[in-house]
Amino acid sequence: MFESFYLFLGQLIVSLIIIIAILIAVVLVLGSILLKKNILIFPKVIIFLIDLLYSPIKKVLKLFKKDESIVDIIGIKARNKVNMEKFSKIPANETLIFLPHCLRHRDCEAFLQETGLICTECGKCSIGVIHNKGVKLKYEIYIVPGSSFVKKIAQEKKFKAVIGVACHSDLNQIMMLLSDFCPQGALLKTTGCFETKVDMKSLLKIMNSKKEQK
Ligand code: SF4
Repeated sequence: MFESFYLFLGQLIVSLIIIIAILIAVVLVLGSILLKKNILIFPKVIIFLIDLLYSPIKKVLKLFKKDESIVDIIGIKARNKVNMEKFSKIPANETLIFLPHCLRHRDCEAFLQETGLICTECGKCSIGVIHNKGVKLKYEIYIVPGSSFVKKIAQEKKFKAVIGVACHSDLNQIMMLLSDFCPQGALLKTTGCFETKVDMKSLLKIMNSKKEQK
């Protein structure tokens, strides 16, 4: 009786491991087609599997000494492509932009308040440029020190779409968290506590996608 139960349990665990391995392989194959050829196949499957198997995929990549951020890059690119059409139809004044405060200049004198940093557009860093353009386009912009601010602001504000700027894993996770708000993301090109750089071309392309609806 016990023997057959343990045999069944063992078979079940092995079957589960095989299924998970196949699903991870599916994500990585479809993801590499997306990254190398810019062709998005079964986007909802990719996004669903990344959300479901995020940690196991990272562990497999680590095991094979591959760059773990690949899973985040695939997730961000897939979400950007899937959401773009709906995102572009939502007016800028119903869209929030979250910028990380590591973009600021080391001599930034802006104050941190409950909704993040209050940029005075002093001209020392790219936040000022993005803030200036974003305000003109009627976006609501928040310069935040971390994901806890993003969660708090997202709970308090009424909005329909969101743009995030962050490093690989933070951006992918913010886009997962706010997946109901057709998120768009632009990656940081460098990381650190101050004076990081954002992929400005991608960010401006996303911001300008609503231009006609101002
Ligand atoms: S532009 Fe804004 S965020 Fe950048 S250093 Fe000046 S006040 Fe700080």
